[in-house]
Amino acid sequence: TYIVTEPCVDILDKACIEECPVDCIYEGGRMMYINPDECVDCGACEPVCPVEAIFFEEDVPEEHSEYTAANFEFFADI
Ligand code: SF4
Repeated sequence: TYIVTEPCVDILDKACIEECPVDCIYEGGRMMYINPDECVDCGACEPVCPVEAIFFEEDVPEEHSEYTAANFEFFADI
């Protein structure tokens, strides 16, 4: 799955939503979240993010690793 990280907080540009072919990017409070069960790893969202907040799960920078955990937690109860 792809992961939205810190630069998205309070920005919520949502350009990613327009690109996602499976509509798996959701707004949640101060940022966007990508549903790991629905994401098809197409990568279309990554280059359109104006603040470069989106990374493939395994490429999330170390300093943003908490966002990977938060993304999975966001969808844990759904
Ligand atoms: Fe949607 Fe593709 Fe981005 Fe996954 S990688 S969130 S499927 S645009």
